[in-house]
Amino acid sequence: MRISLNSQIFLGALLGIGFGLLFARLGQQTEGVRQGLYLCGLVGNLFIDLLKMVLIPLVFTSIAVGVANLRQHSQLHRVWISTLGFFVLSMGVAVLLALLTANWFHPGKGLSLDLFQGANQDIAAKQMSFADFIAGFLHGLFVNPFAALAQGNVLAIVMFALLLGIAIVIGGDRYRNILQLLQEGLELMLRMVGWIMRLAPFGILALLTRLLATQDMGVLGSLAQFVFVVLGAILFHGFVILPLLLFLIARMSPLKVFLGAREALVTAFATSSSSATLPVTLRCAEQHLHVKPSIAGFVIPLGATANMDGTALYEASAALFVANLAGIELDLAQQLIVFFTTMLAAIGAPGIPSAGMVTLVMVLQSVGLPAEAVAILLPIDRLLDTFRTMVNVEGDMIGSLIVQRLAKDN
Ligand code: ASP
Repeated sequence: MRISLNSQIFLGALLGIGFGLLFARLGQQTEGVRQGLYLCGLVGNLFIDLLKMVLIPLVFTSIAVGVANLRQHSQLHRVWISTLGFFVLSMGVAVLLALLTANWFHPGKGLSLDLFQGANQDIAAKQMSFADFIAGFLHGLFVNPFAALAQGNVLAIVMFALLLGIAIVIGGDRYRNILQLLQEGLELMLRMVGWIMRLAPFGILALLTRLLATQDMGVLGSLAQFVFVVLGAILFHGFVILPLLLFLIARMSPLKVFLGAREALVTAFATSSSSATLPVTLRCAEQHLHVKPSIAGFVIPLGATANMDGTALYEASAALFVANLAGIELDLAQQLIVFFTTMLAAIGAPGIPSAGMVTLVMVLQSVGLPAEAVAILLPIDRLLDTFRTMVNVEGDMIGSLIVQRLAKDN
């Protein structure tokens, strides 16, 4: 009997959680556990490296081909507007949810910042003011494409490929050979993704084993209330809000979409990286959810760097949590600042593990909270990152379905 890849991935995830908990129980000093963790490191990194290997050519070709295939001008316009509209709407709702739950439950009230004094020394928080962030973000958008490709700078590649795609559309038939070359390049990359996915069950098993075996459970306990509130809100967004948007706008069954999307969701959970998951997300959207390559190829790579519902939600909750710890009451105007800076921070965060932690500094500073407080959250970040990355990727796939619906000629 052949087990489908989806089931293998699911099985890998379950075994990974099981082994991780077992290893954590036995302790990292045990010889067998040490060797097991070493092996998990090798396999997990191999899987992520392979995904990253195809990521850059895949993003480049998929955006250029995606945009170039949106031939009619009006369709291009509609795809743009609905993509950006959806990103802003879904992230806005996510941040609102974070603010509401944090105001309701007040996580961190009663805990003292001194409790975490030790943690504060471990990290020298990088100063990142709002103005620096905006300047850096704009500066990073347009980069020599060869440098961007060589450095794996996803956002800059997205921008260059967008412009190239538009130039191909405007140039029309004259550039059909280049378009064909890009199209074939894209097909080749997707073929390679198919091979890499055979390793996914093992990669996911290894990554989850290592994650759970090395998680510091003590810190998790003292921050339990915050973890509960954030996870509850992230899961509510992923399982209620996003499916609701999908149903209301695209009139599709969320259950079917979850079934088609699960390869990407599990990969996002295990890798904590929207970028590394991107090849899998694209494959799921096109092959299982039947999003047209011209739409998926545009919305998904852009979404992987710019549309991060889980990250936005997390950063807003974290800001209010730190305020509670520091005994600072944020008024409505300050919470509004948190609302806008979190959206920008999530848009600016690259799709890599713990990126949200780095841009959180800007959110904290925007309302005068101590930036060093990120150190308190660092020990639990890898765990929370799994869930927020999963919701980030879910948002991209649901976004591509909604955009497809809104851009349809009718
Ligand atoms: N790891 C997240 C992602 O790749 C970003 C973050 O929130 O840290 O989507």
